[in-house]
Amino acid sequence: MRITLEDLQLHPIVVSKTYSPGALDYHGADFRQSAPLKVEARAELSGSEIHLRGHLATTLEASCDRCLGAVAIPVERNFDLFYRPVSTLAQAEEVELPADELEVGFFSGDGIELADVLTEQVILSVPMKVVCRADCRGLCPACGADLNLAQCGCRPAAEGSPFSSLTKG
Ligand SMILES: [Zn+2]
Ligand SMILES: [Zn+2]
Repeated sequence: MRITLEDLQLHPIVVSKTYSPGALDYHGADFRQSAPLKVEARAELSGSEIHLRGHLATTLEASCDRCLGAVAIPVERNFDLFYRPVSTLAQAEEVELPADELEVGFFSGDGIELADVLTEQVILSVPMKVVCRADCRGLCPACGADLNLAQCGCRPAAEGSPFSSLTKG
């Protein structure tokens, strides 16, 4: 769904949509959307900027960084975003954005693509570190056994072993 300046000049746009898993392209992100994504939003013009605010909710599935097991990540996010025409970027190049304007994006052409905004917001919601539970013991670096299920009997890997990089954290 495209939100265009032309439409916004006539009236604000109210969005209420559901995207099935697979409908949005997360550009090779290492998670998948495992439930429908629901979005409620309102777009309106604010001077020459597009002001888009709303709420999205979905569930993602990613792999635990330690044991590679599946982890469900519920995502609930409010967003309040301003998009400036990219033509203003050159003029404002020297101007530093004040801290409260960090959520300003830019658009070129006739408007913004809602799907692009949503995929960006979802990607921003994913934690840096995904673990199935805080005390996940991960996989044995030597034999690959899931240490949550059983101790494998290997000796703990020495620091700097070629396998130590395989178990983050
Ligand atoms: Zn785990
Ligand atoms: Zn082992």
